[in-house]
Amino acid sequence: MSFADSELELLRRPRRVFTFTIPVIMDSGKVKIFNGYRVQYNDALGPTKGGLRFHPEVNLEEVKTLAFLMALKSALVGIPFGGAKGGIEVDVRELSGKELERLSRGFIREAHPFIGERVDIPAPDVNTDEKIMGYMVDEYSKIKGEFVPGVVTGKPILLGGSLGRTEATALGGSYVLNKYLETIKKEPKDTSVVIQGFGNVGSNIARILHDDGFKILAISDVNGAIYKKEGLDIKEIFSMQTENGVIPNVKKVNKLTNKEMLELDCDVLIPAALSHQIMADNAGNIKAKIILEMANEPVAPNADTILRKKGITVIPDVLANAGGVIVSYFEWVQNTSNNYWSKEKVYKELESRIIEALSLLLEKYNKLDKEEDMRSVAYSIALEKILKAEKFRGRLK
Ligand code: NAD
Repeated sequence: MSFADSELELLRRPRRVFTFTIPVIMDSGKVKIFNGYRVQYNDALGPTKGGLRFHPEVNLEEVKTLAFLMALKSALVGIPFGGAKGGIEVDVRELSGKELERLSRGFIREAHPFIGERVDIPAPDVNTDEKIMGYMVDEYSKIKGEFVPGVVTGKPILLGGSLGRTEATALGGSYVLNKYLETIKKEPKDTSVVIQGFGNVGSNIARILHDDGFKILAISDVNGAIYKKEGLDIKEIFSMQTENGVIPNVKKVNKLTNKEMLELDCDVLIPAALSHQIMADNAGNIKAKIILEMANEPVAPNADTILRKKGITVIPDVLANAGGVIVSYFEWVQNTSNNYWSKEKVYKELESRIIEALSLLLEKYNKLDKEEDMRSVAYSIALEKILKAEKFRGRLK
């Protein structure tokens, strides 16, 4: 698929970029000023949607890229949202609970004229969680003079959060993987898996795939990796979880570094921790046959061609980890209709949406006879939808 220059020009820059300074009264009584950003990249398909991260390295360029990826993700999986992202430059480890609350409320006081349930809907991301979303919905509702739960997603259940949101990203990835393996006629019991990261996404997908009958050869967290040729007992490992993670507590297994673990011989490698784990310098050593990208951009752009030439299939992040944004959309639907769903309904609707997107992607990908990777095909599908919507709006000829 190719696009005209005028079409690409429209998408080369975000529609709206907001930068804020957020003054916070610290526990010491002194005022500290934090920098905040919100980028609404594209709103052709609906209100913009995307996470809000609190991290010392947050910067505008990164926020713009992530906002664009959110626009592609929503378009690909067919939810009526555009893409946004935001963040605050802050090291949350240096803040007390009260300071974190004041910062979260401060963000809403600066951003409230530009966000809203029909405008732009933030959600949790790195170092932001349901507690912070709770403060945010409270602050926004105070300013508006009415309860507006649909202004953010990822909220506590009692404030309008959705059942099933916590495990949604991992569950979506497991639906995609199971369906993809079905199309290549491979059974879970004959499929070995290596998972990097044991946080929300990594631990949930390890549990789900273990229950589905996959052999989990290795898992890792920031402390390193553990490996067992016969497969790890994930249920037992869960019971060893402490505040410092789980990896150091597991005995009678081989210990590896994260780098070594990525290069293990396996059927499926699941990076579920950080960006840019597979780069040009280690892509040549990867022995997995399939990579399921559960983290955002774990395969760096300079590694894609190397992996394709080695015959490794990369199921891209815009599809593999879209379960989170799909269930965020369900949360918003429940908030705006004031009609709350059972967990079974959330799971069923998630499966149907994400499998529909995978089927459409595979139909196009298989026709191209592997001349392009799955990521390029996914991007083309998403861009085509966004550009069509731009034309219907009359913003593009
Ligand atoms: P998390 O903070 O719960 O877990 C992160 C995990 O990565 C932890 O186990 C941590 O120990 C591990 N880790 C940190 N540094 C590491 C390193 N150097 N090497 C190996 N492991 C390391 O985060 P999460 O919510 O599970 O998100 C993981 C990834 O998935 C991120 O890239 C995130 O952007 C992406 N993602 C998450 C969601 C979601 O719903 N949570 C949705 C879409 C994408």
